Amino acid sequence: MLENKKKEQMKIIYPNTLVSTDEIEVYGEVEEELLTETNPFEMAKRQVDIVAQKMGLNDNIKKYLKRVERSLIVSIPIKMDDGNIEIFEGYRVHHSTVRGPGKGGIRFAPNVNLDEVKALATWMTWKCSLLKLPLGGAKGGICVEPRRLSKGELERLTRRYTAEIINIIGPDIDILAPDINTDPQIMAWIMDTYSMHKGRAIPGVVTGKPIEIGGSVGRETATGMGLFFVLEALCNRMKIDLTTQDIVVQGFGNVGGHIANILYEKGCNIIAVSDISGGLYAKEGLNIKELLEWRDLNNFLKDFQSENYRFVSNEEILTLNCDILIPAAIEKQITQLNAHKINCKIVLEGANGPTTPGADIILKKKGIIVVPDILANAGGVCVSYFEYIQDIHSYFWKIDRINQELKNILGSAFDDVYNLSKEKNVTLRIASLMIAISRLAKAVELRGIYP
Ligand code: NAD
Repeated sequence: MLENKKKEQMKIIYPNTLVSTDEIEVYGEVEEELLTETNPFEMAKRQVDIVAQKMGLNDNIKKYLKRVERSLIVSIPIKMDDGNIEIFEGYRVHHSTVRGPGKGGIRFAPNVNLDEVKALATWMTWKCSLLKLPLGGAKGGICVEPRRLSKGELERLTRRYTAEIINIIGPDIDILAPDINTDPQIMAWIMDTYSMHKGRAIPGVVTGKPIEIGGSVGRETATGMGLFFVLEALCNRMKIDLTTQDIVVQGFGNVGGHIANILYEKGCNIIAVSDISGGLYAKEGLNIKELLEWRDLNNFLKDFQSENYRFVSNEEILTLNCDILIPAAIEKQITQLNAHKINCKIVLEGANGPTTPGADIILKKKGIIVVPDILANAGGVCVSYFEYIQDIHSYFWKIDRINQELKNILGSAFDDVYNLSKEKNVTLRIASLMIAISRLAKAVELRGIYP
């Protein structure tokens, strides 16, 4: 009965899937499970439930950690180039500022919504806690297709969004950063708008800025570099020679592009990469430098012409036979519907939330190791933290120091997670969340609930 109801609902939610509903893993309550598979905030809350149960976490604290501190929804009216006014919706969410000011990126994309931003803010809290950074979790975004805007419209949108959320951001309150479709230029407009309102230059309101206005060397490549350090640490433990591995990367933006490039330069065989248009595959390996040049001329991968490369869709790229799969695009890519088709040894999560809790169970059964987002892609927030410190001190570090400190912090977080996962016989995700959540729970307990 339960199974039939579930199958019917799955057909509604995934009408185009060719996957037999018999293959869908069943666990938990149907409605709750479907929500978890489709809504990222439900997914983030489910993760807290799973870990709370394993840790025996107090119910009151669990309730507290499943709520965000504040959510601001703003309307952003913009005068378009043709003289018309268009109104966009924007969000900024603080999940927790218990351990320090909020920290989190902003994304500009057509499917941005409040629950997505809440989930991303929650994961930022865990990420900062796992790395012991004195920061909380925040996130923001605007529901917009930025490719449809001119540069002038994009600048007006960014500046008006900054003005709308100005009361809940600042170096001591909440520090912004880049995410999907936002780059150093957009960070520069945020820094300028905030500074103009305050009457003085305040670079610390945002990280990922251009170096000329207080940005940090190494920030642009930080998430990719962090992914590499974490992967290297795992391969050392598993006695795997990285250079013999076939690697697939979904997403070819900041995160996917940099990790593909770093691994390519290390001599790894990158057999497939994709962007939103689809991807390219070659068993003998792709020339990543050539593809990055193509991307930087504003081209989609699907339009790259080469008789040696075969086109693959974003669905297919995830199921290619490889050693290491790096989802580095968006959330909910590996779900209960395709997890059984994933064909690799390691999933290294470059994106935030690419694997649903239901998929986690299937991957675990298949013996696939998942290096979770809050550990794997934490290099970005780590170097953002370095940028923030450098801005406060008005003293800037050299790239060697950035990379060494990044490697130290991620290496120590990786050791904590790996050792706990062995000790408790749990996945790396559960171990990461156990460490992050217990640290936050302790901070809540020490500070107490006001008043
Ligand atoms: P980006 O905009 O630079 O790149 C995103 C890439 O994903 C592009 O290649 C885009 O074409 C592709 N993409 C977008 N929508 C897609 C879809 N529906 N299907 C398949 N591909 C799609 O963004 P980014 O900064 O590289 O962020 C990618 C992921 O990494 C996000 O989940 C983000 O939250 C996470 N992340 C980013 C950082 C950072 O420092 N930028 C840090 C940690 C985590």
